[in-house]
Amino acid sequence: MLREITASSLAEAAGIIKNGGLVVFPTETVYGLGADAFNAEAVKRVYAAKGRPPDNPLILHVNFFCEIEPYVTAASETTKKLVGSFWPGPLTLVLNKSEAFPKDACMGIDTVAVRSPSNETARKLIELSGRIIAAPSANKSGKPSPTCAAHAEADLAGEADMILDGGETAIGLESTVLDCTGAKPLILRLGAVTAEQIESVLGVPVSASGGGNGTPKSPGVKYKHYSPEAEMTVVKGAKTDVLKYFTGILNGAVSGRPVGFMAASTVSRRLLAEKKWECLPGIASAWKTVYSDAEFFLFDMGPEKSPETAAKKIFSILRHMDCCGAGKIFCEAFDESGAGAAVMDRLLKAAGGNLTDLTRP
Ligand code: AMP
Ligand code: MG
Repeated sequence: MLREITASSLAEAAGIIKNGGLVVFPTETVYGLGADAFNAEAVKRVYAAKGRPPDNPLILHVNFFCEIEPYVTAASETTKKLVGSFWPGPLTLVLNKSEAFPKDACMGIDTVAVRSPSNETARKLIELSGRIIAAPSANKSGKPSPTCAAHAEADLAGEADMILDGGETAIGLESTVLDCTGAKPLILRLGAVTAEQIESVLGVPVSASGGGNGTPKSPGVKYKHYSPEAEMTVVKGAKTDVLKYFTGILNGAVSGRPVGFMAASTVSRRLLAEKKWECLPGIASAWKTVYSDAEFFLFDMGPEKSPETAAKKIFSILRHMDCCGAGKIFCEAFDESGAGAAVMDRLLKAAGGNLTDLTRP
């Protein structure tokens, strides 16, 4: 059951965390499944509820850096600058644990990932519980992250002790994860805070871990992620070429499972002009058409110049595709500059790396 956010539901939620229970709560990125980070039993329940691989560590949530300070080694200048510039907000820092870090908490590894959410409900929950809250995204492992309470309920009803409904999340993509334990900071996961923003604060180039040696620095990156049920393809190319490709699929209709299209506004509008589509009830900028016995869905991801809009929509579109029973999804690629990098990262992960590049001869 979803709970409205009131003083009393927040107090109840804080009590649940203190007593070792699990609470789904909104953050500005996506919904989290929270538990007392230093209660090993509660953290075990988080892994079980999500079906999360045991070697994929959790992000800890605090309101202020001083709350994690005793449990990590002395903060470097880099860490201080980043905390000063980006907290509270969607930047997770990987730091070295200090001796004081409870041995049985948060796996056996030497590092810990921590961030300070800006969402008011998340902050209130941390404050009222008086705990550091470990919270992965509130979805079943491998499913798209939840950007509204109903998504979390669909995955975790019965497993969470309470679900706080804070409406749609402001950002819609998970935090940027930055490893600060090496000589140079390294982006382990792209997110709302861009490499360019981090570089401008630190004054040095920041690279993203591309993996390659088989032992990813961020354990989470090796797992299949954000996957819809459908087989998904990201299609990269000039607008006219992407449109031609999508129109070819539309006109070559064969009956079977529905086909879903995801595109930025220009391609969406032109695709809409190709057939007679009807609006999907209750969903903004989504349409359906039936053509020669085949069913097609179209979801507009917003203006191409606004990857932030796409970021907000991606996970809920992927969940809608599942509800529509889509067997195949074709998604227009986004430009990878700025916030577009994180959008493309999620799209390609959802597609299992399946990219059709029309710019190549
Ligand atoms: P989520 O489950 O969506 O909250 O994602 C958490 C991300 O943070 C995953 O990619 C984890 O692998 C990463 N993470 C958490 N703790 C650490 C850590 N100590 N070192 C590196 N990455 C971490
Ligand atoms: Mg997750």
